[in-house]
Amino acid sequence: SAHQLTDIIVGEVLHGADGTDIRCGVIGEIGTSWPITESERKVLRATAHAQAQLGCPVIIHPGRNPAAPAESVRILQEAGADIGKTVMSHLDRTIFDNGELLEFAKLGSYLEYDLFGTEMLNYSYNMEVDMPSDSQRIQTLAILVKEGYEDKIVVAHDIHTKNRLTKYGGHGYSHILKNIAPKMLMRGISQHQVDKILIDNPKRWLTFK
Ligand SMILES: [Zn+2]
Repeated sequence: SAHQLTDIIVGEVLHGADGTDIRCGVIGEIGTSWPITESERKVLRATAHAQAQLGCPVIIHPGRNPAAPAESVRILQEAGADIGKTVMSHLDRTIFDNGELLEFAKLGSYLEYDLFGTEMLNYSYNMEVDMPSDSQRIQTLAILVKEGYEDKIVVAHDIHTKNRLTKYGGHGYSHILKNIAPKMLMRGISQHQVDKILIDNPKRWLTFK
C-alpha cells in the first residue's frame, strides 16, 4: 500500500537503505511512464507523504509525453508534496514547445536539463522525440533565465553508458564545467546566473527543510 511504501522510504532516509546504515539524501529518481500507471501513482503518493514528513528533496523522471511532468506534479501536490523542493528531470526530451515549457515552469518545480552530452538522431526510447543538441539546450535555458526562472534551473549529464566516460572516448563528467558553462556565458547567461544553476540551486534543493 502507499502507507507501507511511505514507511520504507522514510526508513531509508532516516536509518539507511537496503540493510545498510547509509541514509538516502534524496527520494528518487521516481520513475513514471506515460500514461502514468496505477502503481506509479501509488509510488508518487508515497513519495509525497514521505517528503511531507521529512522536508527532503525529491526528483521525478517523467513519462515521455509533454503532458507527463504536469500530471506528476498534480498527483504529488494532491498528496501534500512540496513542489518547490522537487526536481522534474529530463525536460530536454519531454517538452519541446516554449509556451508549454513556460506553462509548466509556473507550477514551481526545479526544471532539469540533464541530457547534456547526448546528441542523437534516433532516440531509441521514443523515435518521435527530436533530441535537442547541447546548443539547443542552452538556448532553452537562456529563454528560461530571461523569463525569470534562474533560481529554478538545474543541469546534469545523466551518464549511464560506458561510451560517455572519457576512458571509452566520451565527454566524461567535466563536460558541463568545461564546455557548457562557457557556452552559457556566450548566450547571455551571466556568471552570477551560471553560479546559481551550478551551485546555489542544487545546494538549496538538496538541503532538508
Ligand atoms: Zn531518469
